[in-house]
Amino acid sequence: MDAAYDAVLFDNDGVLTTPTDREVLIDAMHDAFAAVGVVDPPSEHVRTVMGPSVDSLREVADTHDVDPHELWMAREHAAVTAQLEEIEAGRKRPYDDIDAIRDLEVATAIVSNNQHETIGNIVSQFELDWFDVWYGREPTVKGIDRKKPTPYYLELALEELGAENALFVGDSWVDVEAADAAGIDAAFLRRDHVEGVGLPREPTVEIESLEAIPELL
Ligand SMILES: [Mg+2]
Repeated sequence: MDAAYDAVLFDNDGVLTTPTDREVLIDAMHDAFAAVGVVDPPSEHVRTVMGPSVDSLREVADTHDVDPHELWMAREHAAVTAQLEEIEAGRKRPYDDIDAIRDLEVATAIVSNNQHETIGNIVSQFELDWFDVWYGREPTVKGIDRKKPTPYYLELALEELGAENALFVGDSWVDVEAADAAGIDAAFLRRDHVEGVGLPREPTVEIESLEAIPELL
């Protein structure tokens, strides 16, 4: 671990804000299918569309004779709408320890697998515009392949910040893998919802709260 970090990048869900309730997202998937004329989709297809590969999305779309891009657009729109409702209702909210990273003396960024529009809603609703840059997933089928563990958006953020020695803070194995692929250190934030969860690769450091971040700099 190298203490001279010049930037800290953060995952969003489960790190900065509480994760979105799974039932809410499942309902949103049903809305998405309905929007493209599919009533009562098999639950297996609902699960697939929650987190598909490009191929599995195509397969589901073909089964229902729907254009995969159209299904994906409907899916993203429904997920953005449902999560905005959760944000506005206060059910999806920042963790209390977010204040610990508000005044870091290094560059900061958000790099999320959530929709770019959802991250925008979070930044504006919770006044997080003190992050230097933020990236969510673009609302196209291409965005599926660019999700973490692929380091695509992480690398974009590092380039935009001009960071040479950064730390990525996440709560999932995909964050640890993406940091490794981008050649930077990973801090695994073990909050209650990932208690006991194993990782395929050792993170650089494991922390229990964002309050540990200033000490790592
Ligand atoms: Mg997360």
